[in-house]
Amino acid sequence: MFNIKEIRNQFPILQQQVNGKPLVYLDNAASSQKPISVLETWKRYYEEINANVHRGIHTLSQLATEEMENSRKKVQHFINAKHDYEVIFTRGTTESINLVAYALGNSNFLKKDDEIIIGYLEHHSNIVPWQMLCERTGAKLKVIPMDENGILQLDFLDKNLSEKTKIVSVNHVSNALGIINPIEEIITKVRKNSSALMMIDGAQSVPHFEIDVQKLDCDFFAFSGHKMYAPMGVGILYGKEEILEKLAPFHGGGEMIATCSFEKTTYAALPFKFEAGTPNVGGNIAIGAAIDFMKKIGVENIRNHENELLNYAQKRLLEIDGLKIYGEKANRTSVVSFNLEGIGIASDVGMILDKLGIAVRTGHHCTQPIMEFFKIAGTVRASFAVYNTLEEVDALVEGVKKAQRMLM
Ligand code: PMP
Repeated sequence: MFNIKEIRNQFPILQQQVNGKPLVYLDNAASSQKPISVLETWKRYYEEINANVHRGIHTLSQLATEEMENSRKKVQHFINAKHDYEVIFTRGTTESINLVAYALGNSNFLKKDDEIIIGYLEHHSNIVPWQMLCERTGAKLKVIPMDENGILQLDFLDKNLSEKTKIVSVNHVSNALGIINPIEEIITKVRKNSSALMMIDGAQSVPHFEIDVQKLDCDFFAFSGHKMYAPMGVGILYGKEEILEKLAPFHGGGEMIATCSFEKTTYAALPFKFEAGTPNVGGNIAIGAAIDFMKKIGVENIRNHENELLNYAQKRLLEIDGLKIYGEKANRTSVVSFNLEGIGIASDVGMILDKLGIAVRTGHHCTQPIMEFFKIAGTVRASFAVYNTLEEVDALVEGVKKAQRMLM
């Protein structure tokens, strides 16, 4: 049974007032709040276990290692990876994508005039690492165009995929507009027309959908813990074993070596080859607790609840004269991104909402190309998580109406 009151009670932060009003937290695409079970897991690690992993003979070190490796297995099953060693702990989606881009560069995987394809809806973290790789190698970056609804124009792939294409990287869900990209179709086209590697930025899909990396048949899948009820500073890179095996490392240092001498270093087995230095053990354990939290409610139930919130928000917001939703007609999840006609600065709306205790994000959402496409500086973005309610959507709508009255 989906019991929203019980779910909300698990989030201490939601019980507070902000600016004298009950907090309405609608900035979940930036970062979600954390349930008690996650906070307790993290705290218990530091209170009872805290020790470095993998190298200790003593009891606490072994316990820390065991718990972190158990958490890795939880991530493995959550995304249905074939092996636990295909799951690499990182700091977040940004680091996961940079890891792949650097490792490919270090492996001489690309040469001059090879091509990398990304989508129009990417977050800067799925644009800049590839641009940097292009600068290093002389490869070229190509972008799948979109139409005015924010829908990617996939015939571009039919015309542009070739043996020159070395990597295709797209997000599953756009953080700026909430649009769900047809990644299954993209992967099918990529497999059919090239031998390129396929990377998915799943930062905005893992919190809302069930993910099966084997069924998707992607080579890499990246996401961040902090958007799925886990602490900040924890991320995941999934990579297919045979590809990870072939890649050169990203960071060098402790933990990632098999043997090290001044003349020659050999690298550790997966996943440690890509996990140099002391990891964020407490956070890496806590992501397992976040997965337990999501599974207990049921990912499908989370998705259905958020869809109800999104549909209701869209319907009610569109009742406001002069309100435009970007990507309104596209298939979306959990995000509604909008502007009010005649009000050029989205942050003015955001500031009024904040005075009412309503937290939304305003600006370009680290997706400047999308803003340029629509010829706007930014949008107001409300984004939902499992603990949001229809009453909170009502509060948002009333707040937006108030902002419109005040700013017009
Ligand atoms: N990709 C997408 C689609 C995102 O929404 C975000 C975070 N807003 C990122 C990448 C970057 O994630 P992080 O900042 O956690 O590394």
